[in-house]
Amino acid sequence: MNILLFGAPGSGKGTQSAILLQRLSMEHISTGDLFREAVRAGTPLGSEAKRFLDKGELVPDSITIGLIEQVFLKRSGKDFILDGFPRTVGQAEALEVLLKRMSLPLGRAFFLEVPEHLLMERLTGRRVCSSCGAVYHVSSSPSRREGICDRCGGAVVQRPDDRAEVIAERLRAYAEKTAPLREYYRAAGKLVMVDGTGSAADVFERIQAAIT
Ligand code: AMP
Repeated sequence: MNILLFGAPGSGKGTQSAILLQRLSMEHISTGDLFREAVRAGTPLGSEAKRFLDKGELVPDSITIGLIEQVFLKRSGKDFILDGFPRTVGQAEALEVLLKRMSLPLGRAFFLEVPEHLLMERLTGRRVCSSCGAVYHVSSSPSRREGICDRCGGAVVQRPDDRAEVIAERLRAYAEKTAPLREYYRAAGKLVMVDGTGSAADVFERIQAAIT
């Protein structure tokens, strides 16, 4: 089943995608990861996107939709998990057109529901490996050696947009632009509300129950 995960920053989209990928053979499409890779590689897309990422703002729809269209042209053919796309109603509409054109059905849109105080705690404490992308948290799941990734030995750092002043803008953009997607997918009969609190394994079980 093709699915998408959406929710506020820190709601667990990346973590749940990683668990889904371990269990099921699916293709992971994360616009956040794609933008960060482009920034690292210093491509024209990267320098364009960086201006928005640094401020915690959404990258404009025209750029983001163009990127997704490119990704879908090169898809592997496995079922996909869309992580962090769409984030606006305009993106959701463009996705619908794209999927229709490619005769690809969207099964479910999972909304990960997490109260704001928990989002802040997760985001301010989040650390990521700058080499392999593994995700840690300073108190709930620290790396065994501080600053060093358990998986690959890479440097574990704070994402620049996980600084408190940028988080505030990301949450604002979420409330204004992304939260309305719940109504969009409810009207389409695709919405599955998932309690995103508790351990990653607990949340995964809730998602799995709706997939199978
Ligand atoms: P994420 O890793 O999903 O938290 O995304 C990190 C940042 O990338 C966001 O704060 C936005 O600046 C940008 N971004 C990711 N996905 C999108 C999207 N679908 N639309 C616009 N901007 C996005």
